[in-house]
Amino acid sequence: MALRAVEIVEVAPRDGLQNEAVMLPTAVKVELIRRAIDAGIRRIEAVSFVNPKRVPQMADAEAVMAALPHGAASYIGLVLNRRGIDRAIAAGVSEINFAVVATDTFSRRNQGVSTDESIAAWAEVARAAHAAKIPSSVTISAAFGCPFEGEVPLARVIEVVRRVAEHQPDELALADTIGAATPRDVTERVNAVAKIIGGIRLRCHFHNTRNTGLANSYAAVEAGVGVLDSSLGGVGGCPFAPAATGNIPTEDLAYMLERMGIATGLSLPRLIETATWLETQLMHPVPGMLSRAGLFPRAAV
Ligand code: ZN
Repeated sequence: MALRAVEIVEVAPRDGLQNEAVMLPTAVKVELIRRAIDAGIRRIEAVSFVNPKRVPQMADAEAVMAALPHGAASYIGLVLNRRGIDRAIAAGVSEINFAVVATDTFSRRNQGVSTDESIAAWAEVARAAHAAKIPSSVTISAAFGCPFEGEVPLARVIEVVRRVAEHQPDELALADTIGAATPRDVTERVNAVAKIIGGIRLRCHFHNTRNTGLANSYAAVEAGVGVLDSSLGGVGGCPFAPAATGNIPTEDLAYMLERMGIATGLSLPRLIETATWLETQLMHPVPGMLSRAGLFPRAAV
């Protein structure tokens, strides 16, 4: 049966901003999150607890968490190791997300460890999350293609998913980190993974690098995926760069779903307002298109 509702997880404050050249002050990040909540967002990847030397944009994670309205939404903190989850728990996150890269080369470049070592770190983080009774999710990065190894065989993704799932995350995401996927890949991989993860919820994370992001989201929803990541304005890559790597725009995704009769719980006018506000903060146009075209029909709310 077709889905009647989809949950959108807002990732602009973390995945989006981390790829932006402009470093936003803590207060602006907090305002972005507040605006997302006002627009109806209830799960937000708010911060990451990684080495600030590697990702200086996220160095103020504790300060951002301290300034957020408690209980207004579920705040997700990205962690990559034990130290990260200890910081996340101390900062009061609602849930943690861990990232395992499906290919060794990308995993080493991104996190300095092999995929095996990353899964071992996840096992340790999973124990800590379970002990602290904090919900956890794991994003399988490069699940549709790798910038260094090229094609990622489905069998490899299945193997990584199987080993990650052994440590019982509440949710597991297939991520098209470099925006290489097409709808056919999404249908194939979602169906294959859904068969082996039992009761673990499935989420998808798409980038619009090759303009297939919305089509891929549609394919994911058709395949029964009830949770999608997206970022306000589609931020995450410079729109003037040849290899822009933004997430799919939240407002464009919500427009498509709502017009299909799939509830998101979001206010389109408020999303548009926030995407426009974010442009002024980043000092460049954002890739999202709904904020330029406007709603249809005009009077719709
Ligand atoms: Zn991403």
